[in-house]
Amino acid sequence: GVNPATTPATTAASEALFDRARAVTPGGVNSPVRAFTAVGGTPRFITSASGAWLTDADGNDYVDLICSWGPMLLGHAHPDVQAAVAGAVARGTSYGTPTEPEVELAEEIVARTPVERVRFVSSGTEATMSAIRLARGATGRDLVVKFAGCYHGHVDTLLAQAGSGVATLAVPGTSGVPASSAAETLVLPYNDREAVLAAFAAHGTRIACLITEAFPGNMGVVPPAPGFNAFLAETCRAHGALFISDEVMTGFRATEHGGWGLDGAIEGWVPDLMTFGKVMGGGFPAAAFGGRADLMSHLAPEGSVYQAGTLSGNPVATTAGLATLRLATPEVYAQLDATALTIRNAVTEHLQAASVPHTVQSAGTMFSVFFSGEPVRDFAEASQQDTAAYAAFFHSMLDQGVYLPPSAYEAWFVSAAHDERAISTIIDALPAAAVAAA
Ligand code: PLP
Repeated sequence: GVNPATTPATTAASEALFDRARAVTPGGVNSPVRAFTAVGGTPRFITSASGAWLTDADGNDYVDLICSWGPMLLGHAHPDVQAAVAGAVARGTSYGTPTEPEVELAEEIVARTPVERVRFVSSGTEATMSAIRLARGATGRDLVVKFAGCYHGHVDTLLAQAGSGVATLAVPGTSGVPASSAAETLVLPYNDREAVLAAFAAHGTRIACLITEAFPGNMGVVPPAPGFNAFLAETCRAHGALFISDEVMTGFRATEHGGWGLDGAIEGWVPDLMTFGKVMGGGFPAAAFGGRADLMSHLAPEGSVYQAGTLSGNPVATTAGLATLRLATPEVYAQLDATALTIRNAVTEHLQAASVPHTVQSAGTMFSVFFSGEPVRDFAEASQQDTAAYAAFFHSMLDQGVYLPPSAYEAWFVSAAHDERAISTIIDALPAAAVAAA
């Protein structure tokens, strides 16, 4: 796995910071996957970012294929977004009153997606948590259906993992989640119509909602089988349950109209509720949930489902999100598509040349590379990967100045700032990385 063609740059400053971080923060990180647990080594402490590039504490530059795990659609420090944010900051950073940027961002989201009304929150976790409370309040039912391998944030009910077998009531997937929370969650294998039908046959009158990632990206990118989302929407409707499409990752990222733009717009289904985050915050903590007006009217102050937030709709965050979405034109998505295609093709070419089993799967501008030779349709298949091969590939890329997600189960994100220089840095690093993975 060692790549003799490159000499790793010094990482002394990141190592020193990581030591200090571990003394005061669990694992040295504020979100677990940043810790390089799956790939080993020291996470780079980033001191600045511009366009497609990150610079670490030792002065090393990296082409960024994480893009903050999705948000940075336009690249880092886009001058127009920076100017809008600077203007907002100069006007004060939080008032706890309604503001115009909230209205404008809500209008932009309503214009681009099938939701009629939205409410802002500060993280994707809050969005899915609130959407589930709303679904339970609106239906008067408690059970939630989710799919193994779909991540919806660290909400108690949604961290439950699959028990074996269809319609088995789940056990907690993490310590700290009460068994009573996990017992409200049915976890099913993704892309499995039979499992969905069986769960609804057994528990249909108690199911408040089914939540799914529109195009799952949290087990690597695993597209829904053709018609699967439409089938989910239809099954929910037949049983009086609500269909929640989680677009925290795909929203304003997979396409101009998110993951829904990849099949919903064509197949004609509409989710009852949707959740958004990442891109719509333009790199700031902003997220949202939305849906049909009649459902959203169950929320306080109109209705009896309580939901609130001190920093919800924060003027700086909504200004950043609005500036980002206004710049995210159809031309930008076309460019992102072309960039993603170029990288996907180059990855395939070099892994093939080195005889490394792999499968590239994509959802619009998002894609991921599975280090296994078969198509991946669910979490069980995603788990068949050679994670050691990914770790070797990852470190070779990192040593050559390309920062990939430090886990084989993550989507790769490109930005509109990934220009020829950034793309050729990636392509030039692939031959040695492929050999390292072989
Ligand atoms: N839903 C999906 C599909 C996500 O990908 C994520 C985060 O990766 C979340 C929800 C949770 O969002 P956050 O990390 O902002 O709480």
